Amino acid sequence: MSSEPFFRSIGELSAALARGELSSVDLMRSVIARTEAVEPKVRAFNSFDREDALAQARSSDLRRAAGASLGPLDGIPIGMKDVIAVAGQPLTASSRMLANFVSPYDATVVKRLRAAGAICWGRLNLDEFAMGSSTENSAFQATANPYALDCVPGGSSGGSAAAVAAGEAIASLGSDTGGSIRQPAAFCNVVGLKPTYGLVSRYGLIAFASSLDQIGPFARSVEDVAILLGAIAGHDPLDSTSFHTGIPDYRAELDRRKGPWRLGIPKEYFGEGLDPEVAEAVQRAVAHYQKLGCEVKPVSLPHTEYGVGVYYIIATAECSSNLARYDGVRYGHRSKEAKDAVDLYFRSRAEGFGSEVKRRIILGTYVLSSGYYDAFYLRAQKVRTLIRNDFLAAYREVDAILTPTAPTPAFRRGAKADPLAMYLCDVYTIGVNLAGLPAVSVPCGFSQDGRPIGMQLIGQPYGEAELLGIARAYERDHPWAQKRPVL
Ligand code: GLN
Repeated sequence: MSSEPFFRSIGELSAALARGELSSVDLMRSVIARTEAVEPKVRAFNSFDREDALAQARSSDLRRAAGASLGPLDGIPIGMKDVIAVAGQPLTASSRMLANFVSPYDATVVKRLRAAGAICWGRLNLDEFAMGSSTENSAFQATANPYALDCVPGGSSGGSAAAVAAGEAIASLGSDTGGSIRQPAAFCNVVGLKPTYGLVSRYGLIAFASSLDQIGPFARSVEDVAILLGAIAGHDPLDSTSFHTGIPDYRAELDRRKGPWRLGIPKEYFGEGLDPEVAEAVQRAVAHYQKLGCEVKPVSLPHTEYGVGVYYIIATAECSSNLARYDGVRYGHRSKEAKDAVDLYFRSRAEGFGSEVKRRIILGTYVLSSGYYDAFYLRAQKVRTLIRNDFLAAYREVDAILTPTAPTPAFRRGAKADPLAMYLCDVYTIGVNLAGLPAVSVPCGFSQDGRPIGMQLIGQPYGEAELLGIARAYERDHPWAQKRPVL
């Protein structure tokens, strides 16, 4: 086998485990040693529990020895963004508000991964409550980009992307409300999928903006993403937005999906603000699809320019409502200074939340208040429908849409101090959330100075099998994700 266990794929590892060349405890030890070696530079984890992970690995080895292995994920360590509930482990959302909170139960995705034998490994850093694009908004620490340590890993799931890139987890889960899986995947040279709204249960995910949030996988290959998606997707009675739909064997489907596909290139995603090196890398990917016999067509998504504005009205409105529960009474930070009940709410929230979270709660409360509701919130909802209709109209002519994932490669820490500059990082990812579509970011090259570049493939509702097939057709000839960071 080619590399150290911590850099192998789920496919390779499960085969090695099945052949008895490696035990899950060996694998977990290798991942722990790697994490201890590189974590001082990367800082992807808020916390991890070695003993708990080794105990899970031992159970997996016992199962296997008894001939009761649970499939390709059995004994594989999967990192968890610190907004996904794992019973008995900290659940902080990288916020002072929840710094001491321990989850009493497992999220549905965690239950499903456990049922597949996976090891829940560590708590991965993020922008506080998933609000941000750089992981600099964490109340605890800033995660570094493993390929350029002075640059950000993207966000909000920066820890989930960086840990996988650095070999500190075999794969991980994150959440994506406006780009938080795809943009960090692009910045860190890994594959990241935001599934269709409704495909993966959010029960046990700390809510940010409920009409946009989805959980999805990060991995170092499209195949590993397909394996993880198969394990976590499917209807859950505990999430009323989860959809009843058949779940194909995404891994088996990968090689059955052969194309040639009709790919749409939206001109609105290749305009002003796009870094020339990113544009060139994405154009080369487009040319590759043409070589494979795909038909490449220009399409138009005319309401794209309203996306960022609409998102920052809807997402802040929903966050102001979702975060109202943190009042210092039943759980979370409680101020020690309070004089009465109302004072307790004010002080606990003032002390517990960071400045970006406060900015969004204030903005969201404003757009929902009487007198402004129609002018902002209602209008944003109408434009959201226009954005979705743009995509659905394009899908009458094409099978998928290809764009850059982010306008630039990873930027330096501290480079985007102005909130608006940070919000504009999400221009290419936000429309997908507003429209509820699936989209995957796939590594497609590096800048001259070695920072990763990702392209985004946007699919049709519940069309993940086809979407991953399209991604795999590119990856097969372009193993960018195999280029390891020097740490
Ligand atoms: N960067 C976007 C924001 O700050 C998206 C975050 C996310 O997808 N969770 O809201």
